[in-house]
Amino acid sequence: MNNLYFEKVNCNLCGFNGLKKIYSMPDRLYHPDQWFTVVECQSCGLGFVNPRPTFLTMPYYYPSSFYEDFERNKKFHNKRYRKEYEVFKHYIDNNDYKGKFLLDIGCANGDFPRYMISLGWNVEGVEISKNSKPIYDFKVYNQEFTKIPVNYPFYDVITAWAVLEHTHDPMSYFIKAGNLIKKGGLFVFLVTNFKSVSSRYLFREDIPRHLYFFTEETIRKYTSSVGLELVKVDYSDSIYTMFPVNWLLYYFYRLRGKKLEYKNIPLSRGEYFLKYQLSKTIFSNFKYAAYLGKNPLNIVSMLFMPAFTKYQIWSKNYGIVTYIAKKI
Ligand SMILES: [Zn+2]
Repeated sequence: MNNLYFEKVNCNLCGFNGLKKIYSMPDRLYHPDQWFTVVECQSCGLGFVNPRPTFLTMPYYYPSSFYEDFERNKKFHNKRYRKEYEVFKHYIDNNDYKGKFLLDIGCANGDFPRYMISLGWNVEGVEISKNSKPIYDFKVYNQEFTKIPVNYPFYDVITAWAVLEHTHDPMSYFIKAGNLIKKGGLFVFLVTNFKSVSSRYLFREDIPRHLYFFTEETIRKYTSSVGLELVKVDYSDSIYTMFPVNWLLYYFYRLRGKKLEYKNIPLSRGEYFLKYQLSKTIFSNFKYAAYLGKNPLNIVSMLFMPAFTKYQIWSKNYGIVTYIAKKI
């Protein structure tokens, strides 16, 4: 990998180049030898990977196994589609959706659109990955959302579940969504939360597949700049979760005036199994438990993780946020 494959960028939201390093970490899933740095714009607070892989380099970080998860966990995902709809259905005028059009950006294998079709919606999808399954039962644009050949307000709802943090240019997505949503229509999207301990300090972001890190403040700037008004900000864990693993370790370091670095956190189960070439047996799980148990902080951290998660949701600092914005 040389410099041809990476690029440095200014802030996508405000164009500023005054950036502060927040943390560095490797690609934990597929390329543990490759490290990336997350910076924060000192003018508006947007977080992003910088330098980052170029658009053309990106498929290297998305092996087909990344998409197989959708097939493996079908049952889990089916439940999720219902919850995704429940988040925004009350914001549809009179709950009347006959003849209405929804576009799902990043529709993957098409199961969320299929669920919406089963409810009577007209649905189209966008999916750029060549590694996801081909779809024949409804219209899918196999190109970037910003390039699809629709150029006027056509959709009543556009959804983007965990998509915007993956794009190279979130601003162009907001502009296009602002142009394609009818007056009174909705842009519904879920992203991670850069204000949360999980995202900012616990190395829970999927880097470098996640390139951008948003907060309610930066999202508000994006939406208002394209004629969308935020009508709901949902900090619950009902759709996706970002477990604040090692949250106590973070506070332990902070209390001593130290910064928690990636090298200080214990290996995840997957990383541990890979490192010691373990197969999935009960014995291996015991070995991993013993590894974690060497530090009692890990045990206490795990025991109180559900309570800390509840606190994060209550204080609007959870790692995942769903936004509903209305076209005005
Ligand atoms: Zn900025």
